[in-house]
Amino acid sequence: MSFENLNLIAPIMKALQTEGYTHPTPIQDRAIPIILGKKDLLGCAQTGTGKTAAFAIPLLQLLHGEERAGGKRRDIRTLILTPTRELAIQIGESFTAYGRHTGITHTVIFGGVSQKAQTNALRAGVHILIATPGRLLDLMNQGHVDLRRLTHFVLDEADRMLDMGFIHDVKKVLAKLPANRQSLFFSATMPPEIAKLADAILVNPEKVAVTPPATTVESIEQSLYFVGKKEKKLLLRHILDNPSVVSALVFTRTKRGANIVAGDLIKAGITAEAIHGNKSQGARQRALGNFKARRTRVLVATDIAARGIDIEELSHVINYEIPNVPETYVHRIGRTGRAGLSGTAISFCDTEEKEFLRDIQKLLARNIPVIEEHPFMQREAAPVARQAPPRQNRPHPQSGQSARTNAGGSRRYGRRRYGR
Ligand code: AMP
Repeated sequence: MSFENLNLIAPIMKALQTEGYTHPTPIQDRAIPIILGKKDLLGCAQTGTGKTAAFAIPLLQLLHGEERAGGKRRDIRTLILTPTRELAIQIGESFTAYGRHTGITHTVIFGGVSQKAQTNALRAGVHILIATPGRLLDLMNQGHVDLRRLTHFVLDEADRMLDMGFIHDVKKVLAKLPANRQSLFFSATMPPEIAKLADAILVNPEKVAVTPPATTVESIEQSLYFVGKKEKKLLLRHILDNPSVVSALVFTRTKRGANIVAGDLIKAGITAEAIHGNKSQGARQRALGNFKARRTRVLVATDIAARGIDIEELSHVINYEIPNVPETYVHRIGRTGRAGLSGTAISFCDTEEKEFLRDIQKLLARNIPVIEEHPFMQREAAPVARQAPPRQNRPHPQSGQSARTNAGGSRRYGRRRYGR
């Protein structure tokens, strides 16, 4: 299936060409015709599946048609609610990209920054409003947002809204929306509370489910380094000595850890920045912008700060510290290997983290290949070595070939074996 079969209008096809998209992803393939048919949609999909374009493209097309029929007024016709500032900004960037030839306008509003620019944009008038729930409610209560002419509503990442405690705010917003509208509901998971919310919002929805976590993870080359806690910073520099590690997103468990790792790298002459909740929104945006533009090679982030970050062509994710929640590992490494590109995920494991590693391997239902004989190998962290067969190159579980090299093809990191 190509985009040609989806009956998209010329201004959108032109934008997709500029983006270099040739084929729709599975969620786009299935959701675009449903949305263009003005039906409600229940989409079970997570970030990384192309779900933003799956709703942005048809909504732009519908609004383009409606605007041509309805004159030049700029009322808010579409509201998109999303849980985090980063996601809101990224959705805004997607609308800019796909809508550049449509004349449809949008703005993004989120908390943590001054309201001024946001209220100015609202006053000028926009067709599409992308918002986080808290700031939207504030601006609604101050009379800056008029949703009476709204015709389309999108609830993005509904399960995260629940996790982050935003469900009450979402319900308050919902109470203010015109009943006669098209609603689209996206969630990676469907726990009962989310299913109930979907039921309350959607009318006779069409259902589309795509299951990316396993397949996304399949395309990522994972490896594990057993290393002492104190040697982690040396190992990181050693890995970054390899120029094929063009850019790396490094994860730490704590904000303090993120600052320390970024500071160590800067001292070693490697461009690095840290992002976490203690940094201002402006500082986080700048750091992300520098990283995307390849002005900084390494971005060090905590899990919360990295939520929803979408960096095209990110080659390496490095788990400087192993996450204590196994699903977090899958989310972290899913930052690389996007939209079919290959990616590399490297994890550093010290003695204290072995328990976390066990849980992750259980979730993955397989063992992460171990890199042996690197300069900072810590045997105590890897008692599994004694149980593993003598050193050898067993077939790679993903490729069926003998163990591949990691980190861009150099064998300097030593041999793999498979932890158990
Ligand atoms: P999302 O799931 O919306 O976060 O999208 C994940 C990534 O896939 C983003 O970087 C998009 O730019 C990219 N993407 C979305 N649709 C396509 C497509 N049809 N072809 C290539 N890349 C795409």
